[in-house]
Amino acid sequence: MATAVIIGAGQAGVQCAFSLRQNGWEGRVILLGAEEVAPYQRPPLSKAYLAGEMPVERLSFRDLAFYESEGIELRLSESATAIDRRDNFVITSEGDAIAYDKLVLATGTRPRRLQVPGITLEGVGYLRDVADVDRLKSAFGSAERVLVVGGGYIGLEVAAVAAKLGKSVVVAEAAKRVLARVTCPLVSAFYERFHRAKGVDIRTSAGVLEFKGEQHVRSVILTDGSEIDCDLAVVGIGVVPNEEVAMYAGLEITVGDGIDVDARMRTSDPDVYAIGDCARAPNPFADGVIRLESVANAIEQAKIAAASLCEKALPAPAVPWFWSDQYDLKLQTAGLVPRGTGHREVLRGEPDSGRFAVFYLVGDRLVAVDAINSAAAFNVAKRIIGRDGPKIDDALLADTDFDLRQLLANAAA
Ligand code: FAD
Repeated sequence: MATAVIIGAGQAGVQCAFSLRQNGWEGRVILLGAEEVAPYQRPPLSKAYLAGEMPVERLSFRDLAFYESEGIELRLSESATAIDRRDNFVITSEGDAIAYDKLVLATGTRPRRLQVPGITLEGVGYLRDVADVDRLKSAFGSAERVLVVGGGYIGLEVAAVAAKLGKSVVVAEAAKRVLARVTCPLVSAFYERFHRAKGVDIRTSAGVLEFKGEQHVRSVILTDGSEIDCDLAVVGIGVVPNEEVAMYAGLEITVGDGIDVDARMRTSDPDVYAIGDCARAPNPFADGVIRLESVANAIEQAKIAAASLCEKALPAPAVPWFWSDQYDLKLQTAGLVPRGTGHREVLRGEPDSGRFAVFYLVGDRLVAVDAINSAAAFNVAKRIIGRDGPKIDDALLADTDFDLRQLLANAAA
């Protein structure tokens, strides 16, 4: 019977292991995970778990007995260090050579490092793993002044938690606005206002030049010349894909942007697949190849790879989506927010009410939505994006008296 080896026991790797069984894979499934704890979900790390509102047990996808009952050989604290593609085996940090018939790379990403003086001072850290957050949580106790470097979703979520805990919080963002990579200026401006109203000092066009301190961080010098006192600094300036194992195995990658795969999640070697944050895949909603960093994408690609390995029909492409929780704001994004010009933005609702949506349209088609505390706008848009149907009237989208569900009747499958 054939053996499937999965490298990386995160969201994508775990889903792939279970989906292989659901698709009838009868051979061995070996799941290698570099971390020592049972596989867990990351989104709460910068939200409820960081805030101390969620116990560690609730992070796990499943208890360890479940892997056993599914016949999944979970090997924790064991990394793949090399792949021999000629003889189809994986070398691990334990010195084992594990033979595979099919191999799935689900290695995820790691935080982009900030290269500035003082980055190694105590009290300066990143946030990716549960171990990072456990360190941060204990530092939160004594910290009074928290600096967050990077105004992306993770940085802003950390800022929201720190503000709720009564800390004095500064966010330093190098770009002209927060969330510049992922949303439109209107949504960025809303989040900047909301955070400021909660007492968070948001500084834009302000990169970090240097952290200062003897052993522990004491302050930071920003590119705008200011010096800010802080006793804890959390750096969230994006991630880089863990693509090195693939690269050294001679698989095609786009350096710095992940492992290249086709629509079946197959790499340049038909026995090797890549999924989740580390994979660059064709995406019908992107009109091209893209690497996405989201739970929904990790799950979807895992299901595609599992179906592909089991030679089953592939699931239909799903609309990409994402969420972020800050204070009592739930942002839900469906579709891929277009960049630059060439699209229209239609606002529904009043941002200052804390409940609104921005729809993104290209020609007659709805391509994305950012919905803030507007689950209905998100749910309707998610079902319409990518479908053919009559032209969507901008005025109806903007009209809060119009029931958006009526649009569903017009959208063809
Ligand atoms: P990961 O979950 O990163 O898993 C990869 C695993 O592979 C890791 O455990 C790693 O240790 C392991 N690994 C790497 N190399 C090796 C090796 N050589 N051998 C063995 N194991 C290896 N997404 C959302 O949609 N909504 C959110 O609100 C959201 N919030 C987030 C908050 C935080 C703090 C973080 C960090 C991420 C968040 N995300 C969110 C993103 C989401 O968690 C990721 O997109 C998702 O986890 C990707 O799954 P993955 O399996 O591809 O990668």
